[in-house]
Amino acid sequence: MQVLAVHPEVVVAKSVKWQTTCTVVHHGDESFVIDSPLYPEELESLPSLLQQMGWGLSGLLSTHADFDHLLGRLAFPNASLGVSETTAARLKAEMGDAARRLRDFDVDDYVQRLRPLQLGDVQALPVPGRLDIGPSALELVPSEGHTHDGMAIWVPWANVLIPGDYLSPVELPWLQEQGSRTAYLATLGRLKPYVEQADWVVSGHGGPIDAARALAIMREDVAYLQALGDGDAAGRAALPLARRDRRMREVHAHNVARVAAHEGAR
Ligand SMILES: [Zn+2]
Repeated sequence: MQVLAVHPEVVVAKSVKWQTTCTVVHHGDESFVIDSPLYPEELESLPSLLQQMGWGLSGLLSTHADFDHLLGRLAFPNASLGVSETTAARLKAEMGDAARRLRDFDVDDYVQRLRPLQLGDVQALPVPGRLDIGPSALELVPSEGHTHDGMAIWVPWANVLIPGDYLSPVELPWLQEQGSRTAYLATLGRLKPYVEQADWVVSGHGGPIDAARALAIMREDVAYLQALGDGDAAGRAALPLARRDRRMREVHAHNVARVAAHEGAR
C-alpha cells in the first residue's frame, strides 16, 4: 500500500487492489478516515498510520455503499461510520450485501480475514451538508450516477476533493445496477466548481491527481457519457485513450446494457 501526504493534514493510502484509495483528513484535534483499502495487512496498518501522525480518530466516512469503500470498520471496529442519507438507505435496503460481496472477493483472491464485515449502525448525514472537523467543516456534496447513492467530500482548508468513484484516472465512468448516465453527468457538473479550485482530487480508484488532470478526465468522461447515449459504437469510439483496455471494454459493455435498460433502445 502506498501512502502519500498531499497536504500536512490530508494523507492518502492507496490499496494494491483496484488502486482503491483511503484518505485520512485531520483538523484541530479531529480526524476522519474516508473509504478503505482492501487487504487485511493494509487495513491493519491504518491504526498505526494514525498513531504515527499523532491523530486521534473521530470517525469513519464512506463515499458510497460499494463494499470496497466500506471496510474501515475492519480496522477500527468501534468507530462510528458516517454516510450520506442515500447510502444509509441503500445499506438498509441491501442488508448484508456488502459483507457477502466481501466474502466472495476473499474466496476469489484466497484472502483470509480474522472477522467478517459487520457494519452495524451507520450515521446518516444530510447531503448536501457540512460535517464539523476541528474549527472547520467538510463539505458534503451529493454524487449519484455511478450508483444511486453517495457523497463527494470537499476539504476546504486543503483544497482537496474526494469525489468517490468519479474522475478516476484508471476506471471508466461505471454505471452500476442502479447507476444512471444522466445522474452521472449531473454529478460531474456539480463537482466541476470544486475541481476547478482543487489542489488535489483523490478519486476512489487511482492516485491523487491535480486539477488540470482531473478536468481533462472530466472532459473525457462527459464526452464518453454523452456518446454512450447514442449507443455501443459511439460509446466505444469515445473511450478515453488511457482507459480502453480489456477490463474497461467490459465495463463499457456493461454500461451499454445499463443505458439500454434504463433509457430504452435508440
Ligand atoms: Zn469503487
